[in-house]
Amino acid sequence: MDDKDFHSREVCMAGLDEASDAADPVVRYQVRGAVAVVTLNRPEYSNAQNSAMTYALDDAFVRAVDDDDVRVIVLAGEGKHFCGGHDIGTPGRDIDVGFPRRAIIHWDHVGKQGVASRFARESEVYVGMCRRWREIPKPVIAMVHGACVAGGLMLAWSCDFVIASDDAFFSDPVVRMGIPGVEYFAHPWVMNPRAAKEFLYTGARFDAERMRELGMVNRVVPRAELADTVFAVADKIAEMPPLGLALTKKAVNQAEDLQGLRDGMDSVFGLHHAAHAHNAEVGADSLAGLDARAMARANKREAGQ
Ligand code: ZN
Repeated sequence: MDDKDFHSREVCMAGLDEASDAADPVVRYQVRGAVAVVTLNRPEYSNAQNSAMTYALDDAFVRAVDDDDVRVIVLAGEGKHFCGGHDIGTPGRDIDVGFPRRAIIHWDHVGKQGVASRFARESEVYVGMCRRWREIPKPVIAMVHGACVAGGLMLAWSCDFVIASDDAFFSDPVVRMGIPGVEYFAHPWVMNPRAAKEFLYTGARFDAERMRELGMVNRVVPRAELADTVFAVADKIAEMPPLGLALTKKAVNQAEDLQGLRDGMDSVFGLHHAAHAHNAEVGADSLAGLDARAMARANKREAGQ
């Protein structure tokens, strides 16, 4: 996404995070009328999420929640893709770095070994944060273009809406690592169980239109109309009373949890970590020796590229 897409009336740059270069932070925060726009900003790595990015996202969301003038939040990605997943191989990979934690979810993983490290980090940085973001008391719209892969799904799924451009595609290829999907296991709820199985078993790319048919995407629009469509929806929502929106969001989320989302995710998180531990026990590492390059190669092969 380019800055020109914003038609910015009021723009403030955030020095969101000490790990970020203030001039080019890993997450950009801008305000456009009553809408905060939070933008993943590692375009040279398809916005791969390292810890610096997830903690900066957390800061950006808190900032948006605390600003009474912000009624709606839009989550976007800079560059060619919304998000290529968790960082499993860029020079900025920082899985051994600790960050100041906002909520006590687990102990700091730094300096721990095996499951004591991996479970702690993923509880905090992946599932814990995404769940907190799902509960943000303001509507959040994911504006998705290009790739929305693996960890990218977690971000999109923790938002209330997904509005996608027609070039967007979605996939969760982590079954290739012997792992039953990404940590935020919402697959059977955001689509349906049979579609979720096909999505996971094949690792295939589902395009935006297919995801709209499955109910995972709200709207699909041409790429050139994406930003205008998202901001039109956001501006319309912004006219509603904030408390009404917050309570309505909670009502729908509670309904989803009553359908098993939260408990299901907890139970699958155990399977996810059984798989990481199995990989570490019998193979090279917890990711079955697959790094970003190997995964990208396999994903492209699958897509016939
Ligand atoms: Zn994991």
